[in-house]
Amino acid sequence: MKLRHQDNYEWYINSCNRCKTCVHGPEGDESVCPSVDLYEMFTYSGGGKAHLALAAIEERIKKWEDIADPVYSCTFCGACYSLCPVTIDLYDLILDLREIVFNKGYTPASLKKLSENLKKKDNPYGKKKKFIPPEGVKIYPGEKGSTLFFTGCQARTNRDAYESAKAVLKILLKAGVDVIILKDEPCCGSPVLETGDYKTFKTQAHKVIKTIKETGAEEVVIHCPHGYSTFLFSYDLPEDFPEIYLFADYVKMLIEDNKIKFKKFRDKFTFHDPCRISHYTDESDIFRELFSYTGKDKLKELPRHGKESYCCGNPFITPYSDKKLYEFTTSERKNEIINSGNEILVTACPGCNQALKDDSYTTIDLPLFLLNLIK
Ligand code: SF4
Ligand code: SF4
Repeated sequence: MKLRHQDNYEWYINSCNRCKTCVHGPEGDESVCPSVDLYEMFTYSGGGKAHLALAAIEERIKKWEDIADPVYSCTFCGACYSLCPVTIDLYDLILDLREIVFNKGYTPASLKKLSENLKKKDNPYGKKKKFIPPEGVKIYPGEKGSTLFFTGCQARTNRDAYESAKAVLKILLKAGVDVIILKDEPCCGSPVLETGDYKTFKTQAHKVIKTIKETGAEEVVIHCPHGYSTFLFSYDLPEDFPEIYLFADYVKMLIEDNKIKFKKFRDKFTFHDPCRISHYTDESDIFRELFSYTGKDKLKELPRHGKESYCCGNPFITPYSDKKLYEFTTSERKNEIINSGNEILVTACPGCNQALKDDSYTTIDLPLFLLNLIK
């Protein structure tokens, strides 16, 4: 059987020595995989899924319905992918397994619904709400601007994500950026890609690329790390596609160009790294660099942070693929925050913000944190 991203899979997987770095981290004393923490079996780890992929390639899987559980019991945090010393491409490999399970019809109905919603309502989570931007933001079609802010589908369905996206726009306006948004922004397709419905994802990716190119914008700013990493890793972007920036990176550039300044934050706070940055793009230093402008001595790191950070549970996909795993992971991370004694948590992703809200501390997403500090 052939898997979509097959190049050298067999060589790599045969090189897996079951070192379990994808389970216990490089020192062997950490929990890095929420799925193994809950189910306590190697099969549920990145390495375990790699061996399932090898079995698929070698036609050794007899009952695909039995494979669906370990394949979908995963938050897609990417910790295994970033830590594997053999550099097995566990991200694409898990996606490929999901695609086969999806095509064989063993995908949970709750996940299939995300694809159906995307096709019918252009949003995996149901009907989109109207996005009303702050005054001064241009809207395409009708108006043009050099910098497109891609709001992400959460900003059009979830109240907190909407407030966070509005804060991004206010910061860009304050810095004098010629910013536009799309009136009818299509979802980037990331949740549907993770269901295994590759065909629907591909159609959606084409639509997003075409729509953005038509705006004539020179650059695209994205705050949602899921959208950002999907553009970077899963789209076939044409050479003349606008430059893509993570919001945090873009703000740092604005600071360095003296277009915006921030006051110091007075209280101590902690920070939860978004997996899509800490594990996928390895850019988690960018957040620490930003905090150096708002008073780095106020940041009190969590025990697991940066490259070794732990997942929030991923509300974009895990509640639909494995609700028990979502609740378990969210609770593990919340307990880590509570036990650290921090009273303020800063997140840098609308999903992490949603998953980690708790009465024991105050949660604030990065754009709102920064907006409150503009000089
Ligand atoms: S970290 Fe890589 S080599 Fe080690 S067990 Fe996991 S998949 Fe195999
Ligand atoms: S992506 Fe995360 S949850 Fe899934 S197998 Fe890898 S470490 Fe475990």
